[in-house]
Amino acid sequence: MGSRRSLARCAGNVAIRLGLSIAVLGSATVAGGGARVFAGPLSVDAVGRRLVAAYPDFLAGVDGNWIVWKDGTRMAIDDGLGSKSHMALLETPDLEDMLHWPYRAGSPAEPPAFQSDPGRARHQPFFDKMYGDCTKGGTADKLVEIVWLPTKARQRLLVTRVNGVAQRLEAVSRKLDALPTKFDPYLFPAAGTYNCRPIAGTTRPSVHGAGIAVDIALKHAHYWRWTKPDAGGRYAFRNSIPAEIVAAFESEGFIWGGRWYHYDTMHFEYRPELIETAGRCEGTTKC
Ligand SMILES: [Zn+2]
Repeated sequence: MGSRRSLARCAGNVAIRLGLSIAVLGSATVAGGGARVFAGPLSVDAVGRRLVAAYPDFLAGVDGNWIVWKDGTRMAIDDGLGSKSHMALLETPDLEDMLHWPYRAGSPAEPPAFQSDPGRARHQPFFDKMYGDCTKGGTADKLVEIVWLPTKARQRLLVTRVNGVAQRLEAVSRKLDALPTKFDPYLFPAAGTYNCRPIAGTTRPSVHGAGIAVDIALKHAHYWRWTKPDAGGRYAFRNSIPAEIVAAFESEGFIWGGRWYHYDTMHFEYRPELIETAGRCEGTTKC
């Protein structure tokens, strides 16, 4: 990982390269961990460019309201349905909605804003096309085994090799393996990676079925569904996961479920469109 100064410079260059509006740049900051902070929602063009930058193995470019895949497929960025309820953002998001909520990588763990769930809106056809639909057997040939915490845990986990996710999770694993032993109870045994199932309490497919998510140890996890809302219907944020662990994941393009109003603090998933860090800038000409 580079110095914080280089991280900040890198992030700024990314913002300029992606053509983010002045308004968005004006409200963006570089957080303590060195990762960019995005203020959404972004323009259709900015969303398209961000996706193309995040998924270069699959996407060729942006054409108006369309992202163009390398195989010639086109997908609409904005479905034209206007503003959506929180439920509609989760149930029927378009590509634009995936960046509806800002993801504050590198910021301290603090209670997310009411109903702010950056990363929980997932346009399923987009993920199915890259990672396969596990309910149709589409992911099996893309899964590989990695060793979780190679000196401490040596636990075997199944993840996808698509988009280099397996290599990136191995890089996270090496960083976590090097942390002091006080972090161990948070990290292993990992509670799971690949699992073809719906999200608990819904019929929507979980990203665990794409092989891009990992749940770290259950022992210190907090999950909004394990609590009761207060009299006003609001859920109180709870978290015990140390910032060092979150930083290791975010540096490789994984977002953290602890930044969701509907928090799931043991959950991390590969969503580079929401996060841009030095780890992904080094050794490339993109930043
Ligand atoms: Zn999970």
